[in-house]
Amino acid sequence: MVLTTVEILKKEIPIEEESVVVPEGVKVGLVFVDIINGFCTVGAGNLAPREPNRQISQMIDESAKLAKVFCNNKWPVLAFLDSHQPGKLEHPYPPHCITGTDESKLVPALSWLEEEPNVTIRHKDCYDGFIGSIQEDGSNAFVDWMKSNEIQTLLVTGICTDICVLDFVCSTLSARNRGFLGPLEDVVVYSKGCATFDFPASLAINNKDHLAHPQELMHHIGLYMAKGRGAKIAREVSFNAFKNM
Ligand SMILES: [Zn+2]
Repeated sequence: MVLTTVEILKKEIPIEEESVVVPEGVKVGLVFVDIINGFCTVGAGNLAPREPNRQISQMIDESAKLAKVFCNNKWPVLAFLDSHQPGKLEHPYPPHCITGTDESKLVPALSWLEEEPNVTIRHKDCYDGFIGSIQEDGSNAFVDWMKSNEIQTLLVTGICTDICVLDFVCSTLSARNRGFLGPLEDVVVYSKGCATFDFPASLAINNKDHLAHPQELMHHIGLYMAKGRGAKIAREVSFNAFKNM
């Protein structure tokens, strides 16, 4: 039997995924990383998928299910939206998600969140939502949100597993370990709620500006890196006795 690269990698660096149950009484928060048109909607911009993508569709569906549970229970949700000022490039990427355009808006399946009182929207102009939450006066909007909601378990979904999700999770774990995030105990990355983009080596070979980025491989590596920093990787998430996934 010939194994694919992804199958070999999953044997070399396996990830044990957990079935995470958030017990009753534990305060839970949900962060969506960049589930916006510019990264998720076919043809929406330079960094949007060129054709329908199964992993990205699943990420949106699973995130929308979680959004319903959180909004029904009035639990806190924070959505990061990648948004850049016109003319201010984010190296090494081409122009994307310019402030005020559809690219930097939540995907249609999540756009209703803008009206929900338990949802905080945070525009950011860098990969890492933790860094992107630093405000002019030096305060951090994400840290303030965590503390004011006394979040003990933080659930994270979004795109890209190995870029903006990973960077945010790593910074959050460092901040937690330093005691900056109040009662935070667990950072849980829900694997089916995350996705990354697909740029196979066969396309990258003729493109000196972009590194190859095979989707399944990089998604797995992103989850592996997050787990290595101390995140829990969840194959399913449930709340109290009520199973939602
Ligand atoms: Zn960006």
